[in-house]
Amino acid sequence: MIETNDFDLENRIVAPEVIKADTTDDVDLNLRPKTLDEYIGQEKAKENLKIYIEAAKKRGDTLDHVLLYGPPGLGKTTLSGIIAHEMGVNFRVTSGPAIEKPGDLAALLTNLQEGDVLFIDEIHRLSRAIEEVLYPALEDYALDIIIGKGPSARSIRLDLNKFTLVGATTRAGQLTSPLRDRFGVIQRLELYSKDELCDIIMRSSVILGVACDKDGAYELASRSRGTPRIANRFLKRVRDYADVMGNGKVTKEIVKIALDRMEVDDLGLDGLDRRLLTMMIKGYNGGPVGLETLASAIGEEAVTIEDVCEPYLMQLGFISRTPRGRCATDLAYKHLGLLKDGQTTL
Ligand code: ADP
Repeated sequence: MIETNDFDLENRIVAPEVIKADTTDDVDLNLRPKTLDEYIGQEKAKENLKIYIEAAKKRGDTLDHVLLYGPPGLGKTTLSGIIAHEMGVNFRVTSGPAIEKPGDLAALLTNLQEGDVLFIDEIHRLSRAIEEVLYPALEDYALDIIIGKGPSARSIRLDLNKFTLVGATTRAGQLTSPLRDRFGVIQRLELYSKDELCDIIMRSSVILGVACDKDGAYELASRSRGTPRIANRFLKRVRDYADVMGNGKVTKEIVKIALDRMEVDDLGLDGLDRRLLTMMIKGYNGGPVGLETLASAIGEEAVTIEDVCEPYLMQLGFISRTPRGRCATDLAYKHLGLLKDGQTTL
């Protein structure tokens, strides 16, 4: 496997966030499930939401505000669209950083029709001033607007249509507690199992018109870091290899060839992950090593390591965090084929 040092982080193939290579064309939209039944996995979240949606519909009421949290690429936006679809209402999408002024939010809220779902992605990035506007909107479906300045300023209350806010965040801990308390439903999304990812890949291959056998799908699933967005991205890339190097069918062999070329190993680690682990083991005896030290040793930013590499490496149990720094675990040594003294086992 070839290792490169210069990483184009914005186009990192195993990034769980949307990257430039992900198209937002019709094909991509088609891949998004439209109903709860089509949505694969997340059984707990689905079961709960099904009940809340049915109950709200029975009462002829709007759904309570919903907070979805979990790592990127797990289907928070998709699930929000499904909620709107199942409730039979409009779906409006925005994000925390896109709402810059209280007026932006007021414009969004006053344009909502009865029952609409307003989806705010990255809701932890809303400013305090905007949050203040949101509170009465969530609680009383009203906006308090200040007209005029100085002593003549007065506040008027504007009634809004009843709506459902669906907030999504990768960092539930960063949400202020007054905001968190205003959500009636708080649901965590989990990383997907290999079997669930396999089903997602088989479903996507039918939609994309790609022939894919079960072993090929399973091999892709094993390398997709528990994340549907990565699985779908891999499928689209591997299709090219299947067309050029095979007979158009995505098989286990083709997946291996394609992902090896993309420097993604059998657990979904890429060159950056391996460089990090190797540095910890060979450069610092497996740790503990401080984040900043590690970052400068491999020439990356500390936040990149923390946000981009660590979540999955910790989930695999390859890295542990201690008060004195990061440590590589025995599993990491084993995966890289390294012994405790940094020598290879081969
Ligand atoms: P998030 O908002 O959590 O970052 P998205 O909702 O944008 O994630 O999902 C990323 C992609 O993964 C979507 O384009 C969708 O096609 C696919 N996806 C996510 N969850 C599922 C699922 N449960 N079943 C099938 N496809 C899914």
